Amino acid sequence: MAGYDKRFSGRKFDEMREIEAKVGVIKRADGSALFRMGDTIAIAAVYGPRELHPRFLQNPETGILRCNYDMTSFSVPERKRPGPNRRGVEISLVTEKALLPVLELKQFPNAVVDVFVEIVQANAGTRCAGISAAALALAHAGIPMKDLVSAVSVGKVSGKVLIDLDKEEEDVDDATDIPIAMTGRKQEITLLQLDGNLAKKDLMEAIKLAKQGCEKINKIQQKALKDAYKSVKNE
Ligand code: ADP
Repeated sequence: MAGYDKRFSGRKFDEMREIEAKVGVIKRADGSALFRMGDTIAIAAVYGPRELHPRFLQNPETGILRCNYDMTSFSVPERKRPGPNRRGVEISLVTEKALLPVLELKQFPNAVVDVFVEIVQANAGTRCAGISAAALALAHAGIPMKDLVSAVSVGKVSGKVLIDLDKEEEDVDDATDIPIAMTGRKQEITLLQLDGNLAKKDLMEAIKLAKQGCEKINKIQQKALKDAYKSVKNE
């Protein structure tokens, strides 16, 4: 494809899709959240801390985090085969790694905190939406956290560095997609995946865009948490 002068969606190169965040969407969970970026919708549910079974998996020095990412079969245009697959295992692992640095689980020896991330509609960027949803759900569950984590994908499509690729952009032959997660206050990167080629200059520009995007996402996450407690007060 020749130069990408205007995005398919009409967005600016530094413009994310519309974002929606809400906590408390699953009553039976200890904490839960919905996070939507455009047509990508992630729901996260947190259970725990609770005693880890089987007991040989327990760590007497700290609680552990266990993430499970999955896409529903109706989340994509062609029905996705239900059940675990390699992609899900990988994304579950990177979700865990992206969140662990902000969690204070030392006070929960032998326990586990389970996070289930379910993608109910997918249009690229699902691991990022899942991480932003999971961080919110953990905070909503009252798990001690040093900070929130926000995530967005950045990348390069036909010569242009841009933020929050949608599926149409991800599918462009030369597209490079870089999911990035970072903490709120210090903007320390807790996840960066890069598949493809990118010059250092472009990578630095992409990270700068991710920082701007995550700052906005962090504010939206904070508002979602505050809104939940506002409604408690008014009940
Ligand atoms: P991410 O969703 O984090 O960008 P990928 O790059 O692996 O992760 O996936 C990109 C997009 O491809 C997904 O968001 C989804 O829209 C689509 N996709 C992934 N897996 C499937 C699948 N099994 N069937 C159809 N579409 C899929």
